[in-house]
Amino acid sequence: MNRESGHYDRALLRRYLGGDIGPVPSASIEAHLMACPSCRATLAELSDPATLRRAWDGVRAQIQRPVLSPPLRALRRLGLTERDAVLLNASQSLRGPWVLASAAVFVFVVAAAWSSSNLATACYLLGAPLVPLLGVVGAFVTGDSLAELANTTPYSKVRLSLLRTLAVMVTTVPFVVGFGAILPGIGWLSVAWLGPGLGLTLAALVLLTWWPPRVAGALLCAAWIAVVAVAFGRHDVVLTVRPHAQLVYVAITCVTAVALAIRIRLARTPGGYA
Ligand SMILES: [Zn+2]
Repeated sequence: MNRESGHYDRALLRRYLGGDIGPVPSASIEAHLMACPSCRATLAELSDPATLRRAWDGVRAQIQRPVLSPPLRALRRLGLTERDAVLLNASQSLRGPWVLASAAVFVFVVAAAWSSSNLATACYLLGAPLVPLLGVVGAFVTGDSLAELANTTPYSKVRLSLLRTLAVMVTTVPFVVGFGAILPGIGWLSVAWLGPGLGLTLAALVLLTWWPPRVAGALLCAAWIAVVAVAFGRHDVVLTVRPHAQLVYVAITCVTAVALAIRIRLARTPGGYA
């Protein structure tokens, strides 16, 4: 400290910046700096602006880094880039599928616990494929903050649409399969619904290139409910996932995948972001 001015001289502040003085004098300087604008200004002159900017950017990035939801953390581990994860995390629409999957699981458990195994099976086969379908449709319902973001950034809209679909599938499918596996009387049906589930979800993505999400979702839900109702009327609801039915779903999946690729080529993106 300079006795006359009551401030630290430049040489000492330079040594402080270089880390060349001990912890006790450093603490004393820091206490003075907190109260002295003049010494802070001197310190700023002596500091390297590039180093300061780097340090500040690092602090800011750490503070602003969002906390990712569990499904997105899982996707990060599987190789999703941080940029994609942060963008998906900003989407309100991904919370819907979580709620949907939880609600569906609750309904399955109640149906299995309180009804005959036939009705529980029907409930499961009816509900399971609708969970990812409704999750994907819900992810494209307007009012999502991501929709505005997608419209104002140069980010690939197709990539974003497919990423959202992937995130919904990762969120909902393991839930529904897992609970089917532990429910009594479901057995192999816990994976048999994946055929119609995939067909319906891809069909939704294709229809979403033409129609609003609610219309596409309602149409496909009605179609699946009709299929299950017909089988239920024949007292054989498992008919909907028997091998010959699975072949139909594989065909639907192939046709819709090609249709989706063509629609995307024509610059039509699911959800209408094109
Ligand atoms: Zn001072």
